[in-house]
Amino acid sequence: MTSPTDKSGTKTTAAPSNFLRHVIENDLAQGAYAGRTWGGSPGDAAHHAQGMPDPAKVRMRFPPEPNGYLHIGHAKSIWLNFELAKEYGGVCHLRFDDTNPEKEEQEYVDSIRDAVKWLGYETYLADRPSAPGTIQEHEYFASNYFDFMYEAAEYLIGAGLAYVDEQTPEEMRANRGDFNTPGTDSRFRSRTPDENLARFREMRDGKLADGAAILRAKIDMASPNINMRDPALYRIRRATHHNTGDKWCIYPMYTYAHPIEDALEQITHSICTLEFEDQRPFYDWLLDRLAEGGLVASPHPRQYEFARLNVTHVMTSKRKLRQLVEEKHVDGWDDPRMPTIAGLRRRGYTPAALQLFCERSGTTKSGGWIEYASLEAALRDTLDPIAPRAMAVLDPVKLVITNWGELMGSDDTLDDCSAPVHPHHPEMGKREFKLGREVWIERTDYEDVQPKGFFRLFPGNKVRLKYGHVIECTGATRDADGKLLEVQATLVPDTKSGTPGADAIKVKGNITWVAAADAVQAEVRLYERLFAEANPGSGELLDELNKHSLEVCTAFVEPSLAKAEPGVGIQFERHGYFVRDTKGGAAGGQVVFNRAAGMRDSWAK
Ligand code: ATP
Ligand code: MG
Repeated sequence: MTSPTDKSGTKTTAAPSNFLRHVIENDLAQGAYAGRTWGGSPGDAAHHAQGMPDPAKVRMRFPPEPNGYLHIGHAKSIWLNFELAKEYGGVCHLRFDDTNPEKEEQEYVDSIRDAVKWLGYETYLADRPSAPGTIQEHEYFASNYFDFMYEAAEYLIGAGLAYVDEQTPEEMRANRGDFNTPGTDSRFRSRTPDENLARFREMRDGKLADGAAILRAKIDMASPNINMRDPALYRIRRATHHNTGDKWCIYPMYTYAHPIEDALEQITHSICTLEFEDQRPFYDWLLDRLAEGGLVASPHPRQYEFARLNVTHVMTSKRKLRQLVEEKHVDGWDDPRMPTIAGLRRRGYTPAALQLFCERSGTTKSGGWIEYASLEAALRDTLDPIAPRAMAVLDPVKLVITNWGELMGSDDTLDDCSAPVHPHHPEMGKREFKLGREVWIERTDYEDVQPKGFFRLFPGNKVRLKYGHVIECTGATRDADGKLLEVQATLVPDTKSGTPGADAIKVKGNITWVAAADAVQAEVRLYERLFAEANPGSGELLDELNKHSLEVCTAFVEPSLAKAEPGVGIQFERHGYFVRDTKGGAAGGQVVFNRAAGMRDSWAK
């Protein structure tokens, strides 16, 4: 991983902590996975079917459930897994954890694939660096292991390690006990392996109704860890699966499926968030039992937990994000206010900005909230050194230079101006635009009477039209309601930027502008945090929303912006970072820009 950089672009010495590096380095030093061996038959067959080479290398996985679009929390997990794989010369599998037929859709599979690819991790999916782009080969689906999972369940039953339980859901809940009370054995717990096997096959063959029975591991109903009190392995659910269709009416539980997926793919380090810590004993129990039976390799993968990423003013629950989409509080999963990778992308975030943010957020065992401001800071810090500059007027009012014709020969004369594309990178070239008698300026750049500390336009004051001439404000026109209609000024001769006279007059104000003659009209969408609540999720979701998360303005922008490419962040001078939207404006075909972030954090205001 690259070490973090500070604002000036220099490397800072202290890399944010990431305890997983130590875990991996230790394992590699001890050759923990080099001697991995396989036992007997069924697992071996499944292993060979996977065609997995070189079991000794670090093998990570990112295992999303395709039940929604990925969000910033997933970006952290993707970054962590793929970067660690990259750093230690390993690989990382993109695995769709599709064990839950009702909630999963192809649209989500596609969006996840897009997100991982866009974040820049496509090539690390491949085992063969000589053949980049082999993404298909290293994409995995949990549902492809359903046959193996079923065989493994029969093995556990035969070994007396699983049983079919037909208690009612109420009985099951009551007999589970709680934190203070041990559970009680089900009356079905003492069934013989033969009885269990016959009943399990009836479950599989559709002889039992949905919910009538489950297959449970037989561990310990008195365990202090409730997850070890005979957890469910299989449930009956008549639902069509996006991959296996109607082949199955029983589906494995996530807690049973996940360790098996990791083992079959020979994952070395199975990284997940802290809420799975209590599941780790079952993860190990299951894989130890299956390894004893020769169904999976030994040593088996190990699970490591880290604190999930929480960002203030950001919701990271797919379920709640889905609610926002379905109830149309936002304009789809890729609404630029959404914390989805698709939304962040449209908002103007870049893979580099998200990677820097993930790195800076640290990887530890103790959680907490990361400030939203640090997300924006990562964007600014990555864009500032590379983003082309442009002028844009977001709340335009007309400024008329009343002596223009007199000085320039005619009211229609246009003067050529130019500015560097980037102030520190002359090689990026220059942008050209015109200055004329009428220009658009920001409404807030004019005041009738000078407020304290205000050095922009007010009658009698001189300012520079940035990259153009110095002007002196002479007055303004307002309508009956006091609304500003027009500002007037006179041009001070021989003061054009870049000419010898430019420095003859010192001015304290420098304002951005675009000429009425060559400005391009654009729809500019100013986004704010989607949630006003700093720690959303604690109260009623809709009450926590920021009612002012979107403001749309009709702006005028520099002519160079008519050709701006989507995905390329641009700094609108004084206003922040913007990106051309991929979706057209209200009027169709209009030039549309989204604000990714302001020049500085101004939320407190
Ligand atoms: P959600 O709660 O939003 O539905 P999930 O954890 O159920 O998320 P999965 O698709 O199961 O979603 O997650 C895939 C991977 O992403 C998991 O390994 C999970 O631990 C990780 N992940 C999800 N949210 C976060 C987060 N906020 N921070 C870090 N990792 C996360
Ligand atoms: Mg989940």
